[in-house]
Amino acid sequence: MALYADLHRHLGGAIHPRIVYKFLQKQDHPVLNYFPDYEGFYSWFTRPCRTLEEFVKIHTLVEELQSLEHLPYFIVRLCRGAYTFENLQYLELRYNPYLRTARKLPVSQRIEEMEKIVEVITANLRPADYPITVKQIICLDRRLPRNINEAILRVAMESLGPVVGIDIAGPEINPDSFPVWLKLFAKARAAGLKTTAHLGETGITNVHPEFFPVLDRIGHGIHIPLLRPEWLKELAKRQITLEVCPTSYRQTGVLTDISELRPVFARCREAGVAIAVCTDNPGRNPAPCTLPGEYERLIDHDVIDFRELKEIQNESFRSAFGFAGATRF
Ligand SMILES: [Zn+2]
Repeated sequence: MALYADLHRHLGGAIHPRIVYKFLQKQDHPVLNYFPDYEGFYSWFTRPCRTLEEFVKIHTLVEELQSLEHLPYFIVRLCRGAYTFENLQYLELRYNPYLRTARKLPVSQRIEEMEKIVEVITANLRPADYPITVKQIICLDRRLPRNINEAILRVAMESLGPVVGIDIAGPEINPDSFPVWLKLFAKARAAGLKTTAHLGETGITNVHPEFFPVLDRIGHGIHIPLLRPEWLKELAKRQITLEVCPTSYRQTGVLTDISELRPVFARCREAGVAIAVCTDNPGRNPAPCTLPGEYERLIDHDVIDFRELKEIQNESFRSAFGFAGATRF
């Protein structure tokens, strides 16, 4: 049995819609007034969106459900599914701890609660029956003020070990504020954390070459090979891996068809830039969306061929932030 590694998966988008729906039923959640049956909920939850902003709005609903009290429910089921149905050996799970704190609390108490959020997630990521290794990437967010992002970084630095890296997530807004991120990333690296950032997902405006010296990987970055292929040389030199999540681009309205990824893979291959194929938000994609399914879709759309598959699967282990073992194959 082949075993896989997924390096880009959001806690808010990783949960199967059936599990979310059952949870809403248990809580007698008011959102069920709109969705008296599962089929209606499933269609809404997994529908393709026109923009990333629209996609992120539904994500916010799940983040609110994943409170301190209920995180164990979601985490255990997430590990169970990834191990049982996807043959994952290694997973890097990313989330924003601040967005899971109680919204009714003042900001200072929400900042304090973040530490407990990370502790509860860490404690539940080792289910005895599903021996998958899960490391955490903590997400900063472009929508949050600087002081909160700095507090998020502090929590990540204090949790080094279970937490292996830092990311910037949220809609691709305020592209000119990049110097702020550069400072935070340099600080993260100095503390021993690895770095990745959602860049070049919906366009090229937030990709500044100044990011490259402080990044280990780029979340998506597909618009670099598509629109600025001359930058690939620099990525190759710095051994920066792109985390490419095929189905995601259809769901967020970025691409209409997976075959549009052909130039992304071809140009990266030619320039020597590594790609790790990942799932992003598999629970938000129409079923079955698994990592092996993403591999199959890439072959099916002539983006990669079978000869490249093993190499691409190995790349995820090689580019992992916290995988200590040897490459699988
Ligand atoms: Zn993502």
